Amino acid sequence: MPSSDPSPAPAPDEDEAAALRRALVRRIATFDGPWGDQDWSPAVLAAMEKVPRHRFVPDVTLPVAYRDEPLPIGHGQTISQPTIVALMTQALHLEGSERVLEVGTGSGYQAAVLSEMLPRGHLHTVERIPELGARARELLRERTNVTLHIGDGYAGHAAAAPFDRILLTAAPPEVPAALGAQLREGGILLGPIGRDQQVLVRYRKRAGRLEQEVLGAVRFVPMLPGTP
Ligand code: SAH
Repeated sequence: MPSSDPSPAPAPDEDEAAALRRALVRRIATFDGPWGDQDWSPAVLAAMEKVPRHRFVPDVTLPVAYRDEPLPIGHGQTISQPTIVALMTQALHLEGSERVLEVGTGSGYQAAVLSEMLPRGHLHTVERIPELGARARELLRERTNVTLHIGDGYAGHAAAAPFDRILLTAAPPEVPAALGAQLREGGILLGPIGRDQQVLVRYRKRAGRLEQEVLGAVRFVPMLPGTP
């Protein structure tokens, strides 16, 4: 191949990763669980097929990175199971121009998937553990529609409020008051709520109040107050 070829062949690892992602997305697309009929949005599946999950999970082989399972990301935290990431992304009903807040950046993987879903929007994502935030910031660096903040997500991010969507990827015992306040009228707040028993709840703000809809049982790490 001439050295001037503008599009060199991808490294074999990237080919393998892409094949594993396609297989994972086929599996996600057949998910039909207790969360109601899953009429998958092509945009959600495309985002899942595009984001290289293996970059967000340190020290595992490619096949492990693309299993439909949660994985440790250090500091006692976990990256969610891909099917859960897809379900939560879909449950936000994004059209592409929303202003979104994510609490619990963790590895940055869910943030990258949301970034794909927001070509005309913006994501603010908050992480309380500085080391995780620094690693995610590096992985999200080229995504101009994502801003990462280190801090306590219980306070939300007032400077960028109100938000059209708020996604919690750690579980508080109840909806933090600041987050309810930073949600725009008509907006959706989605997250796991509870301590030992958790349910994924989708709230819609109507006439200043949060109307709730329980989507199903889930298990997330707790949303902890303050910063370490
Ligand atoms: N969305 C992540 C997974 C998150 S795990 C991903 O795609 O990898 C939950 C994360 O929430 C952890 O990194 C944890 O440190 C963070 N977290 C817990 N309580 C928090 C709080 N009050 N504010 C911000 N982040 C918090």
